[in-house]
This record gives sequence, structure tokens and C-alpha cells, in this order.
Amino acid sequence: MNFYVLTLFPEMIRQCLSASITGRALEKGILQLDTVDIRDFSENKHNRVDDYPYGGGAGMVMAPGPVVRACRSIQGKIEIESQKVPRVIYLTPQGKVFDQTMAEELSKEENLIFLCGHYEGIDERALEMVVTDNVSIGDYVLTGGELPSMVMMDAISRLVPGVLNNETSAEFETFQDNLLEYPQYTRPEEFEGKKVPEVLLSGHHARIEDWRREQSLKRTRENRPDMLEKAALTEKDKKFLHT
Ligand code: SAM
Repeated sequence: MNFYVLTLFPEMIRQCLSASITGRALEKGILQLDTVDIRDFSENKHNRVDDYPYGGGAGMVMAPGPVVRACRSIQGKIEIESQKVPRVIYLTPQGKVFDQTMAEELSKEENLIFLCGHYEGIDERALEMVVTDNVSIGDYVLTGGELPSMVMMDAISRLVPGVLNNETSAEFETFQDNLLEYPQYTRPEEFEGKKVPEVLLSGHHARIEDWRREQSLKRTRENRPDMLEKAALTEKDKKFLHT
């Protein structure tokens, strides 16, 4: 999986993704990360990439030229190498809200280009010219698209085969089957008087599975009843919810 990030702050992206699990996947070559500094595509003698908004108003707007040139430089390279037109994702609070289903869909792409805005955003004409997907990471406004792009790359990366050491650790997780994951415990068996639930020490796999399912269902009902409405519940699940 190859990630390309168009940004005014490439160092933010590199520093974050080169740690931990994504860092190891980059070292192994399972993931590739290419950051492109939009400023390098400015034709202004002071390397300016923003300007005042037409019509007035607060803040600055990223000019179309550097954004379109930066994006085309990468698109061209990918098209030559893979013969495919890559998707260009603009991080914006106005986009479709990112979720696990979208992460799964995007993890099947070979190349993804992320376009990070800053200030008041990017000139609309540039967006019309290069963007294929508008994606938000939630209903709040951040200062730039860098953190949202990293959130997306992290979630997508862990679905790419080989990125997680233990392949099964992405097998049952929160959001799968429209349920939240059951509680997890590790050693010690007792911590400050609080014990690990007895059933998890029993070695009885069927009982453990039932307990986990019940916890998932109850937790989802409590924290995310909206998800539970979409979950495909068996008769046994319904019984768990009524006990
Ligand atoms: N003026 C824009 C608006 O009202 O829609 C907000 C611009 S925001 C201050 C600057 C940049 O941060 C955006 O261009 C976008 O790239 C990024 N951004 C902010 N909030 C975001 C969110 N919730 N999801 C994805 N990107 C976001």
C-alpha cells in the first residue's frame, strides 16, 4: 500500500507514522509513505501558497496552482507505474464521515493520495480538478488535514495484510458485526482488589465465547444503541440482552 500525502507540514506526517506498528510496516516495505510539500510547487518568489479570500472574510485560502501542480506530479507518477488513476482524498469537515467500512474499502487500493488543507481551506477550483473523495474524521473543525490524514492512514494500515504481527488481532474488533468489542484483561489476575472475571480463567472456550458476546452486546446497547439497531442479532443474542 502506497500513501502519498500532500501537505504544508510533511515533517508532522513522517514523524508520526514512523513510530510503532506503522513504523515497522514502513521499514519492512509493506507500507510506503511519500510526503509532498505543497510549498515546493509555489511559483511565488517568497514560496507563498495562500492568499486572501475573494469576497472578503477572515483567514487565508490555499491557492489552486501549488495544490494542483503538487497533486498532478504524484498522479502522473502513479499512473505511469500502475496504469491506474489513483484516488485523491481531500480531508475536510464537509466530507463523508470516515468509519471502519470506509477503512476496509480503502485498504484494498494500491495507492492513495491524501490532500491536507490548512487555514480556511483550499480554492474550490483546485478541489474540483483533483479530488475524488471528500472525507471528514468527525463533526469538529481542526486546524489542518494532517491529523485527519494520519488517523485515516493508521486505520487503513492495520487492515493491510502483514501490518499487524498477529493477523487475528484484527479479526474480531469493535465495529465488526456492528458491535463494540468485549472487555479485555491481562496479568495480574488481581489488581488492587479487582479480579479478572472468573470465566476467562476457566479454559472453557464455549463459555468464554458466550461471555464475550454478551459483554459486546450489553456494551453496545449502553454506549452505541444506534449500532445495535443495525446488528444482525440471533435468538441467543436477544436472550443475552434480556438477562
Ligand atoms: N473553512 C473550512 C470549513 O469551514 O469547512 C475549515 C477549514 S479547517 C480550519 C482547515 C483544514 O483542516 C481543512 O481544509 C481540512 O483539510 C482540515 N480539517 C479540519 N477539520 C477536519 C475534519 N473534521 N476532518 C477532516 N479534515 C479536517
